[in-house]
Amino acid sequence: MRCNKCDSEMKEKRSFGAIDYYCEKCGNSFTCIFSEEIELDENEYELKLEKNEPSSNNIKIISKICNCNFIQAREIIVNNSSIFKGKAVIIMDIKNELDNNNIKYSISPSFNY
Ligand SMILES: [Zn+2]
Repeated sequence: MRCNKCDSEMKEKRSFGAIDYYCEKCGNSFTCIFSEEIELDENEYELKLEKNEPSSNNIKIISKICNCNFIQAREIIVNNSSIFKGKAVIIMDIKNELDNNNIKYSISPSFNY
């Protein structure tokens, strides 16, 4: 997302049901509310890791998401385990965190947000 005032890349922060955009250059900010569709989505999604290096950064991220220690997090990465089952709005937050850290994963059923 680019700033509509100064055209620099904006920082984004996702929280439940919304994304906050903030421009560090000029201080411009706005919030995007997710469509109701995602909040009303009753599907249970499963998020599973694909092949990733058990690097110290990846281990740190996974241990944070799964709320487990580094040894368990390393096991999860090495075994390409499932890390979360639940509703779309929460999957969205985890997906964003994984994308930011280039961690590969798959979501089933297909996740269209
Ligand atoms: Zn700006």
